[in-house]
Formats: sequence, structure tokens, C-alpha cells
Amino acid sequence: MIELIEKKKNGLELTYDELKFIVDGFINGDIPDYQMSSFLMAVVIKSMTDKETMNLTDIMLNSGDILDLSSIPGKKVDKHSTGGIGDKTTVIVAPIVASLGVNVAKMSGRGLGITGGTIDKLESIPGFKTSLSKEEFINEVKNIGVAIATSTGNFVPADKKIYALRDVSGTTQSIPLIASSIMSKKLASGADYIVIDLKVGKGALLKEYSDAVKLAKLMVKIGNNYNKKTICILTNMNEPLGTNVGNSLEIIEAIDSLKGKGSKDLNDVVIELSTYMVSLGKSISLEEARKQVIESINSGKAYNKFLELVKYQEGIVENIKLSPKVFSVKSSKTGYLNEIDALKIGQVVHKIGAGRNSLEDKIDFGVGISLSVKTGDYINSGEELVKVYLNEKDLSMREILDCFIIEENKKEKEPIIYEVIDK
Ligand code: URA
Repeated sequence: MIELIEKKKNGLELTYDELKFIVDGFINGDIPDYQMSSFLMAVVIKSMTDKETMNLTDIMLNSGDILDLSSIPGKKVDKHSTGGIGDKTTVIVAPIVASLGVNVAKMSGRGLGITGGTIDKLESIPGFKTSLSKEEFINEVKNIGVAIATSTGNFVPADKKIYALRDVSGTTQSIPLIASSIMSKKLASGADYIVIDLKVGKGALLKEYSDAVKLAKLMVKIGNNYNKKTICILTNMNEPLGTNVGNSLEIIEAIDSLKGKGSKDLNDVVIELSTYMVSLGKSISLEEARKQVIESINSGKAYNKFLELVKYQEGIVENIKLSPKVFSVKSSKTGYLNEIDALKIGQVVHKIGAGRNSLEDKIDFGVGISLSVKTGDYINSGEELVKVYLNEKDLSMREILDCFIIEENKKEKEPIIYEVIDK
């Protein structure tokens, strides 16, 4: 292992067998955390060639069970987000796409750090069962066209163990490590097509646009290598997506979005992701897919599919609870709201109990924030910026106000969808 760490430290390319030695050794405990951290840091600094990244993905993908979805008739489309603040798109997109006859067998994760996870959000619906056996998961997709659950069984154990170590060793920010982590899981999920919402900006893992483009191209290349058409949609994560951040609050907002109401930025991202998924799944043009997606929302078909999904997984939407301790934060300034810092909002919401610091921590589903304004709005002094739902943990007004930049001159509003990369 020391020789291999040295080799990577010197920027040399590792072979398939060398990478396999490292991954296998780490999973079975022969390679200790301190050597693996050292190796991962060498990768962060010296990077990997595309060939190494492809090989690492393949080794991780084959480290556990690969889900066989072939018993489900029709095409299966998967969706992934690299994570952001207020990102509840899976909860909205999965039922929309399923309502149009395209199967969505979605395995999701829990949040760690400041970005939330779909599974935690769904568990804020009392009764909602997120842990399904492989058979239950596949049967649900066969019966209603959609299922969202935690990963079952021995699913990409290499990523589970490596990701946990990256999280505590300052080695998350590496394009080859992110690409192999995401793509090994997506390829093991068994879908025919993969649509990735690649977030870039203050509240995202990747802050630099050029890095996001590199990551997108790499993931598309890996997907194509396995004959799985992969599309990356680069979206803006400088400001929280939509208005609500916090588990129950995000489900409430997802319901609004499914009914065609709610924030434009969220709805734009939802429609874009759904359009690509439906277009791939049904082999129809993007124009036709977009028309069908909008029609499904407007007719209530998408919302009904969501209710069917929740009922199937035993959740009771009517029982969603928000924390009763609510306070309103008002602006002390007049001017244009030029920025709502997604990272700071994420940190605030995490601090009041919506996220966890370690996997054993309990989440407070009812806490969070609901924005009353979005960037580009003109704000009068005394106008409400945000409602905060608190429970046990406290927060100062200053911590909230620091998330907002209000200025005399209006800054041009940034686009929410930057570009689509499919080659
Ligand atoms: N999401 C993942 O699944 N893995 C990463 O490395 C980063 C984001």
C-alpha cells in the first residue's frame, strides 16, 4: 500500500489490479483508515486519469450486489442529484415521471453534513417506510411504477466505506472520486438511463463551473461505457432551491410544486429533469416530453401518483408536523435582494436540528426555514424575509440576516439551469 500511495503521490497512473488491491483491502480491513486517507488525499491533489476513474468505478460497482430490474417491464430511468440546499426534486420528479408510464426505481440516501437526503425528507411523513426488501422494492415499481427507498442489502459497499472516510478526511472535493462514487451507485441501481442534476455554486459540493463541466463530461463518458445513456443537467445552487429548507417543510413544498404552485426556480428544475427522463424513457422528443410533463402536473395526475406512492409506503401526509415555535425575521434594509447564501442557510438549518453530524444523530423533522422572498425581489425595511421553525435549539437574528445581501443596485438574476451535457 505504501508503494501505491507513493506512486499516486508522484502522479503516476495506477493499474486496474492496483486499484482493486486498494479497494478490496480497504473493504476487508487489511488497509487501515490512515493509509486509505493518505491515498485519497494523493488522489485529491494529483487527480486520476479517465482510465483510472473508469477502473475505479468498475471495481466499486462490482464490490457488492447489482440490482437486477429486468423483471420490471419497460424502460427504467434513474435520477441523481449531487446535493444542494432545499433540493426536494426527487420527491416531485419521481411521481411526475411515473405518472407518464416511465418506471422509476429510486434508491436514495440520507443527508450527512449540511445537505439533506431524500430519505430523511420522506421519513418526515409519519409512517412512511423507506426500508424495503429487494422484492418489495421491485414489486412496488411493477405495481405503481415508482418506489423510493434506502439502498437494500450489500449495495456498493466500497462507496459506503470510502465515502464515510472521505467525509471526515477532507477528501470529498475530487472530480474522479465524485464521478466514481456517483456512477458506481447509479450503474449498480440497474436503470437503463441516468439523469443527473449536477449542482454548482455556494451551496453545492462543486463551487467552480469549470469543475462541474469536467465532472459532467466524465460521468457521461462512464455511463456511455456501460451503454447507459447518461445526461447531466448543470443547475444553480448559489441560492436555496425553492423556498423551504428542512424536512417536513420540503415535503410540504414538494406537494405544492406537484400541484403546479410554488416557486418558479424549483418548478423549472423539476420540469427540466422530468422532461429528460420522460424523453429517454418513452423515446419521444424533448418538446413532446415537456408537454406531457406539464400536462401531468396541471391535470393532477402527478400529484395523484405521489399520493399513491406515499400510501403504498404507508405514509400519512395529513400527519406531517411542523414545529409550532415559529418566528418571523424582517429586513432592516430597503433595496434589491441580490443574494441568499445557500451555504449559510444550509448551516443555519443544520444547526437548528434538521441535519445530523454523525449517522446516529436524530433529525428534528419539523424545524427549518421558509423563505418569503427570492433573489431579485425589491425589499422594504420591515418586510418579512423568512419564517423560522424552531424547536429545542436556538438561533440569533443576526445568523439569519447574514444570509441575505440587500443592496441599492439590482444585480442581474442568475439562470437556474445552466446547460445540459450529454457528450
Ligand atoms: N454524491 C455522491 O454520491 N458521491 C460523492 O462523492 C459526491 C456526491
